[in-house]
Amino acid sequence: MSNVENSASDPVTDSIFGKIARKEIPVDAVYEDDFVIAFRDMSPQAPVHILVIPKKPVENALALTDADREMAGAVLVAAAEVARRLGIAESGIRIVLNAGADGGQTVPYLHAHILGGRHLGWPPG
Ligand code: 5GP
Repeated sequence: MSNVENSASDPVTDSIFGKIARKEIPVDAVYEDDFVIAFRDMSPQAPVHILVIPKKPVENALALTDADREMAGAVLVAAAEVARRLGIAESGIRIVLNAGADGGQTVPYLHAHILGGRHLGWPPG
C-alpha cells in the first residue's frame, strides 16, 4: 500500500529551509544554537548576506504566536552574534524579514536576512 495518503505535505516543512533546519540538506553554518541555524545566502545582495532560520518550522513573521517569543528573540540575538563574528557589527547591518507576497517572500519558511559590508539604501524597492 502506498504511503502517499498518509504523508501530510506541508509547504513550510517541505521548503528548502525546512530541510536545512532538519539537517536533511547540509549547510556551512556560521552560527547555530538550540533555536536557530545561520548560513550564507546563495545569492548574496551585499558583501555579507546571512540567513538565520529557526529550527521550529514557521512560515513567516506573520505566523508567529505568543508561544514563539523565545524563538523569535533568539533569531535577533543570533543576528547580533553573526554580525560580531563576521566583523560587520561596527559598520552596521540591516535585518530583514520578508513576509508574504507583497513583502517579497519567496521561501515559505521564516528567515531573517542579515545584510552588511556596504552602505544600504533606503527605502527598499
Ligand atoms: P526571501 O525572498 O524569501 O525573503 O529570501 C529567500 C532567500 O533565500 C533569497 O535571498 C535566496 O537567495 C535564498 N535562498 C533560496 N534558496 C536557497 C538555498 O537553497 N540555499 C541558500 N543558502 N540560500 C537560498
